[in-house]
Amino acid sequence: MKEKIIIIGAGPAGLFAAIHAAGIDNEVIVLEKNAEPGKKLLISGSGQCNLTHSGDVEDLLNHYGEAERFLLGPLYSFSNRDLLNFFRERGLEFITTSEGKVFPSSFEARDILDVLLKEADNQDIEIKYKTPVKDVEFIEEDNNFLIDSAKNQYRADLVVLATGGKSYQNTGSTGDGYRLAAKFCHEIIEPKPALVPVYINNYQFKELTGISLDNVTISLWRGGSLVKKWQGDLLFTHRGLSGPGILNYSRYINNGDLIKLRLVDFKNEARLDQRLIDLIEKKGQSLFKNLIKKLGIPERLGLKLIKLASIPKNKQAAQLSKNERKKIGELLYGLPLKVEKRGSFQEAMVTAGGISLEEINPGTMESELRPGLFAVGELLNVDGDTGGYNLQFAFSSGYLAGQEINQRTN
Ligand SMILES: Cc1cc2nc3c(=O)[nH]c(=O)nc-3n(C[C@H](O)[C@H](O)[C@H](O)COP(=O)(O)OP(=O)(O)OC[C@H]3O[C@@H](n4cnc5c(N)ncnc54)[C@H](O)[C@@H]3O)c2cc1C
Repeated sequence: MKEKIIIIGAGPAGLFAAIHAAGIDNEVIVLEKNAEPGKKLLISGSGQCNLTHSGDVEDLLNHYGEAERFLLGPLYSFSNRDLLNFFRERGLEFITTSEGKVFPSSFEARDILDVLLKEADNQDIEIKYKTPVKDVEFIEEDNNFLIDSAKNQYRADLVVLATGGKSYQNTGSTGDGYRLAAKFCHEIIEPKPALVPVYINNYQFKELTGISLDNVTISLWRGGSLVKKWQGDLLFTHRGLSGPGILNYSRYINNGDLIKLRLVDFKNEARLDQRLIDLIEKKGQSLFKNLIKKLGIPERLGLKLIKLASIPKNKQAAQLSKNERKKIGELLYGLPLKVEKRGSFQEAMVTAGGISLEEINPGTMESELRPGLFAVGELLNVDGDTGGYNLQFAFSSGYLAGQEINQRTN
């Protein structure tokens, strides 16, 4: 009798696991709660699908926060090159942007999904739509899994959980997989919105909405201690901060944290102060608001900082008091912004947290707690930066689980 494999979720991770699991001696069925597959994949990269990122695997590994060690298995087993080859062999071509983001040359996410569905069809994989899975249990006497959907019950020898995270819930990923995995005693690291903008308390920069700053040094403080420091591009929004420098580090930011922005490139505050003194000496007759532009600060931001330092708008540079100079220096060197909250799951491109990696075999994606149960994609405690890293992980982990199942059942 053919072994039966049930994959829960028809997103990129689930479909890829199914395609690689399928073989002549097994039967693969995908259960999907929506009426259609890959809803999140279709909106990825604003519908253009930033499929992966260019570069060596060592470079990719730096873009997944704390999950780097676990990712050695999936990313070396199925790299960005392997992923592109898979789609190239099926007729797609790709374009790499100057930042290293890789898109299908049509810039259509639909093309990626179509290849997956065609491949699934070629392999006789059945996808059952409108089939939300409510429960999975292992029946010892029968030595197989019992899967309960709203419609039917299914039996399976092997099960893959591929239900995604908790963000953009209208795409179908509503966090069901956490509950299903927890039933097998898996630890669930608290799911949190990631790749998400942050809202700032008492935000003073609304009128700067849309202004972006390149390569700002950003430091994150909690209870008076430095948590992390990095550099990145930043965008002022109508209620807070966004841009890659915030999105990619939002996994580390908690409500109530303090973010400090170093808006100028000086080694220390004393050097900045000396530069201000020099400027004031040379151009004392200029209005200070014009002088501040010489530090590379956009005009509107400069005006805002002057206001925050309580310096009158039309004050000549030479008339600046020492205290005023110190105050503006402090703001330029470490503009403090208190985080009211991170954006919600509805704004988050991915979910940080999920099934603990401690209990998943990084070479196969199989549960260490329940043999025969696999977990792939965003459901796991892996969240990558913007730039194609999350889809790469969905595909790499789906591939590993699929390969393992294929070898075991064929
Ligand atoms: C707006 C947006 C843009 C993005 N852009 C990019 C990008 O350009 N590049 C990139 O790398 N990443 C991007 N991402 C992230 C990327 O899309 C996800 O990380 C990826 O889709 C995760 O794949 P997955 O298969 O693990 O989960 P999902 O794609 O979420 O798929 C999970 C599937 O499981 C189904 N499901 C859930 N629960 C059940 C259940 N109980 N029973 C049956 N089925 C169930 C869902 O309906 C869904 O179809 C973006 C995300 C968003 C929200």
